[in-house]
Amino acid sequence: MSIEPVLDPHKLVKELDGRHLINGELVPAKNGKNFDVLNPATGKVIAQAAEGDADDVDVAVSIAKKAQKDWANRPARERGKLVAECGRILTQHVEELGRLVALESGKALRTESRVEASVLADMFVFFGGLASELKGETIPFNPNMMTLTTREPIGVVGAIIPWNVPLLLMAIKVAPALVAGNTVVVKSAEDTPFTVLRVCQIMQQVLPKGVLNILSGFGPGCGGPLVAHKDVKKVSFTGSVETGRTVYRAAAEKLIPVTLELGGKSPMIVMDDADLDKAIAGAVGGMRFTRQGQSCTASSRILVHEKLHDEFVSRLLAKVNTLKMGDPLDEETDIGTIINRKQRDKVCGYIEIGAQEGATKNELSALPSDPKLADGMFVRPVVFTDVKPDARIAREEIFGPVACVFKFKTFDEAIELANDSDFGLAATVWTKDLKTALTATKRLEAGFVQVNQNLVVQPNLSYGGVKLSGLGKEASLESMLEHFTHKKTIILNME
Ligand code: ADP
Repeated sequence: MSIEPVLDPHKLVKELDGRHLINGELVPAKNGKNFDVLNPATGKVIAQAAEGDADDVDVAVSIAKKAQKDWANRPARERGKLVAECGRILTQHVEELGRLVALESGKALRTESRVEASVLADMFVFFGGLASELKGETIPFNPNMMTLTTREPIGVVGAIIPWNVPLLLMAIKVAPALVAGNTVVVKSAEDTPFTVLRVCQIMQQVLPKGVLNILSGFGPGCGGPLVAHKDVKKVSFTGSVETGRTVYRAAAEKLIPVTLELGGKSPMIVMDDADLDKAIAGAVGGMRFTRQGQSCTASSRILVHEKLHDEFVSRLLAKVNTLKMGDPLDEETDIGTIINRKQRDKVCGYIEIGAQEGATKNELSALPSDPKLADGMFVRPVVFTDVKPDARIAREEIFGPVACVFKFKTFDEAIELANDSDFGLAATVWTKDLKTALTATKRLEAGFVQVNQNLVVQPNLSYGGVKLSGLGKEASLESMLEHFTHKKTIILNME
């Protein structure tokens, strides 16, 4: 039976209320418990999610383990075709998924949520096409021996995802893991359980039962048991540094591989010869103001050459000021909400700290006037200028619409400032000079460096950080081969 798109997200969440997806079926938590999921734009409950615990993890992992043998035994291209077919079907659900993720995450539909839903579908199509690349090598070890390597699946993969870009971040784990012959148990984020559950439900039309399962629940209560489960042989995690450390420790106990995509405090360097129009648009896009800055790659440290600094700042402030904050589902809205109260309090706390630390606070855009949104988690974007490099707002990840602008004199000073961070996820440089651009890309300590643009994660481009930003790469062929297979060496003695 084919699943038709449901364009009313309020109706759709009711269908998904209180359910995991295990072995192809929507099922309640074994303990019968649920938790409330709120619309961050209104503060009202939209539905309840199943509160998974170790018992649900046990069921889901054993189902995934059982399904893995048959799945891995299929020809790689057959698996690839099924995963690509999921992408094709998901393309027909872009509008539905965009609306649903806008409702539960508070991200504006036009600027963020619909875009994310279409990239999700594209990721499955992309990875589906890579199945034939799961190939090994022959090695000239000894003329009397045939020596070769093969790529073997790892087994059951635990995928733990956050709330900020749940669809895309699930896709870059699930798609390569499945194509490589693994089966997957996903643990969704507390605030955004429904859209990823819907995606998995849609994918059941194509995938064999038990190959992809999804649980909702809290971090320690559901994510913890998933990482610790004896039959989970690989964990791919995206989230905060602190939780990343916890996951890494638990994985170390079992000696299993992990991929960790953690935080960032990404620099954007604007040289004196930069195209100012492009750089300002790049700062607005790169800082992800339309996503309330809730991005690991947000260009939250903007370093501007002293010659351009004042003009850059006044034009940046004017541009951010034009962004309209409002109901995430309204097509007119540019900026939606922060995800939840805890996160909003944290962001507001940093805004106070920044002012106390002596930086100049420029608060932009207007809060929505609609009384229906009075209890929403809206925060006005803030651009701090005159920021000291050792200020907390300059060093700690805020994960909100708060950018810091710094002034620099020389290229060396800019690179030093850019690299003076615990994080190393992304960086951009804006210049017309080829030598400056190349030197900067070489010297910047980051996993994802761009010149004169600020794109988000794309299929085929390895994505991942250095330093506290994490371990491993995602979104590319390399990510599938290196992180979702192990290499087996085979030696045939022909004498
Ligand atoms: P945030 O604070 O923004 O929620 P986290 O890193 O805590 O960021 O959460 C990212 C994901 O990790 C979520 O799905 C969350 O439930 C999960 N998580 C949190 N704590 C743990 C844990 N101890 N073990 C496994 N997963 C966890």
